[in-house]
Amino acid sequence: MYKRILIANRGEIALRIIRACRELGVETVAVYSEADRGAAYLRLADEAYCIGPPAPKDSYLNIPRIIAAAEVGNVQAIHPGYGFLAENPHFVDVCQSCKIDFIGPPLEAMTLLGDKNQARQLARRIGVPVVPGSPGLLRTEEEALEVAHQIGFPVLIKAAAGGGGRGMRVAANDLALKNEFQQAQAEAKAAFGDGSVYLEKYLEGPRHIEVQILADQHGNVLHLYERDCTVQRRHQKLIELTPAPHISEELRQAICQDAVRLAQEAGYINAGTMEFLVDRHGNYYFIEANTRIQVEHPITEMITGVDLVKWQIRIASGERLPWRQEQIHPQGASIECRINAENPQRNFQPSPGKIEEFIVPGGLGVRFDSHAHAGYVVPPFYDSMIGKLIVHQPSREEALACMRRALDELHITGVPTTVELYRQVFRDGEFLHGKIDTSYLDRFLQQRQAPAAVG
Ligand code: ADP
Repeated sequence: MYKRILIANRGEIALRIIRACRELGVETVAVYSEADRGAAYLRLADEAYCIGPPAPKDSYLNIPRIIAAAEVGNVQAIHPGYGFLAENPHFVDVCQSCKIDFIGPPLEAMTLLGDKNQARQLARRIGVPVVPGSPGLLRTEEEALEVAHQIGFPVLIKAAAGGGGRGMRVAANDLALKNEFQQAQAEAKAAFGDGSVYLEKYLEGPRHIEVQILADQHGNVLHLYERDCTVQRRHQKLIELTPAPHISEELRQAICQDAVRLAQEAGYINAGTMEFLVDRHGNYYFIEANTRIQVEHPITEMITGVDLVKWQIRIASGERLPWRQEQIHPQGASIECRINAENPQRNFQPSPGKIEEFIVPGGLGVRFDSHAHAGYVVPPFYDSMIGKLIVHQPSREEALACMRRALDELHITGVPTTVELYRQVFRDGEFLHGKIDTSYLDRFLQQRQAPAAVG
């Protein structure tokens, strides 16, 4: 086991990693930008270094500064959390050449799976279903039109290097595809430094189902069952549930087995996620892999009892997974709501500022992962997530009731949040029934304007 690691991240996930390390007896070196100076969670780290100005490129994305902090802090490994450098192969390469372990997958697996087009090709090769689309990357508008005519409109132009719900454009006909194609390439180049795009059929009304993977350095690959992340805004997740409602045991097993095969084939090690879409007819399609810990990992921890962050660290330091697949028995149901400082009434516009009151729920089966508190100032430079409300109960019905109760207790003032919207969603018949698709939240918002988001 490591003696000391550096956490190349901030906020909620930095705190989550510090907690895991403290329980493992591993010392932590935190880093912070000038915007996060004095943040309360930094006190829980053994050491903390300022790595630069607020802009991510000058601090949390700045590889030389992070490596300098790692050298000064004399760490053996770096945990990247999610976002920032977590899926950056160049960073992994630099860590390797500096003889610092990267707590994540090997460079080759990250490079392969991080390119959505290559990941798709790999899935095809081993017979995992993918959304109908282009066989590979598309160079010209003509190629795109040809594929669109084969698979039928509407189609989705996707950036091979895309992520975080960005780099996708829907086209409903020839004209739209012609208009969007070059723009999509240019946008991908500007946003991700890589203009490669490919085409997928745009599925109407899919559900997003993903599978948690854990793989060690000794060839053991396990799945920790699925999460349903269908409640999204702008293709970004807001509410996650496990088990996924309304899927047959057969479908669950098929998706989980395919996720394991993908991880094996890619030579994957560490925690990772294989993402799928499921259509109205119960067909499933692999869409992409996330080669890191995910925001929504706690719901899997709740039902399996496996601490995923601790296992990331254990795996990187060479430990073996102690279970066989048959020994993973999910218990009960878990739900997570992402508490964001943003205004659902204004198209989820980020709303940084000072939190005045911050009263968090508790009680049996309630977990609140957050670095925020009364008086905390949400900086405008980063993600707007200020916490994750997680519940775990013996059944889905009880989990829904527990979340409703916990949301009613959660009281945040000073900045608009997504809390009031969730209170309504957890009272909405369609959501409670569970038969929803990725367009659910947009429809819900259109039907009723959410009242004042503060509360
Ligand atoms: P990102 O890497 O940006 O998260 P993903 O490929 O994981 O992108 O897709 C994010 C979301 O976009 C999915 O959960 C789904 O809502 C939507 N999406 C992606 N591909 C398709 C598709 N072919 N048809 C319909 N919706 C899609």
